[in-house]
Amino acid sequence: MLLLIPGPVTTRPEVRAAAALDYAPWDQDFRPIYAAVRMGVAAVAGNVLGSHAVLPLQGAGHFGMEAALRTLVPPDGRILIPLTGSYAERMARLAREIGRSVVTLAIPLDVPLAPEPVAGALARDPAITHVGLVYSETSTGVVHDPVAIGAVVRTAGRRIIVDAVSAFGALPLDLGRHPEIDAAVFTANKCLEGLPGLSITVARLDALTNAALGRAGSWSFDLRDIYEAGERDGWGSFRFTPPAQIVAALRVALELHAAEGGAPARLARYRANAATLYDGMRAIGLTPCLGRDAQGPIVVNVLAPDDGRWSLQGFVDSLKTRGYLISNFYNTSRPSFRVGCIGALTPNDMRGFVAAADAALRALDIRKRAPAD
Ligand SMILES: *Cc1c(COP(=O)(O)O)cnc(C)c1O
Repeated sequence: MLLLIPGPVTTRPEVRAAAALDYAPWDQDFRPIYAAVRMGVAAVAGNVLGSHAVLPLQGAGHFGMEAALRTLVPPDGRILIPLTGSYAERMARLAREIGRSVVTLAIPLDVPLAPEPVAGALARDPAITHVGLVYSETSTGVVHDPVAIGAVVRTAGRRIIVDAVSAFGALPLDLGRHPEIDAAVFTANKCLEGLPGLSITVARLDALTNAALGRAGSWSFDLRDIYEAGERDGWGSFRFTPPAQIVAALRVALELHAAEGGAPARLARYRANAATLYDGMRAIGLTPCLGRDAQGPIVVNVLAPDDGRWSLQGFVDSLKTRGYLISNFYNTSRPSFRVGCIGALTPNDMRGFVAAADAALRALDIRKRAPAD
């Protein structure tokens, strides 16, 4: 079964094999595994170990996001969040629930975020200290450019926290060239092609050490405390029990990432996957939600056929019998289905998926494949 979802992704057998062992997290044999993960992640982020810390935290991407917001946005700070889609909405909710002041910016969802409205919002409100940017908005499939947005935030003297969850490892992010980015948050199980259960934040050392101890208001979600513990106890140690199997699998995934040619090679493969899928959907009479120019390489949303026999769950079930698993929900405004292009997949897999989708629509007797007007 191939997972064509934007995380957790289809992984290589070598990655899963590393998780099929028992590990004692505090054993001397495990510590180098964890240390290698930190080094590998820092290399992908632009060889930033001198200026940044790699801070793993047990759990999902939201846990890393919450820790970054708690630790890096001061209680009297204010974060501007451009509403790029449901992951931006989630970031806004996380920030509000921990009591931070949030300003949202409504923008068109189907094109990359333009820097001008961000610059305008920052100029209008001097109390804004941070911008929360979703790099790859997984709900829409649109990629928002941290270089263009970073430039206006830097000019305005504010800081950025990047949700890079469905970007890191494929889309470019050289943190050494982005002094305005305090932190990028991501997980093991998207473009790094590891297993789920670990979030990672790469944060600037100055932002971390400027964060007052205890500011996070939570021991579990305090990046400063994770940093202090690493410095004190050694970077082979975790504060609490780590998902050791996931860490070991991530080390293998990072080796495979480097062997493939790093983020540029991975991006090229994902782009080829997305293009094959996009063209393939059109070739069988279906309509992708986004115009080709706005379509990112991570996930492709396709409008639901305007046919009374269409049911998303029926389509998902039919695809499953053909060896492909896609999401049984959508988060676009119009009914759609979404197909992930990331993970251990190639354009050949995408061609196989297109043929399976065609067969599934026939089996379900869907005659009108065009979307509702
Ligand atoms: C997957 C994802 C997350 C985190 O999801 P979790 O379920 O918490 O791991 C956050 N932001 C984006 C853009 C994502 O794609």
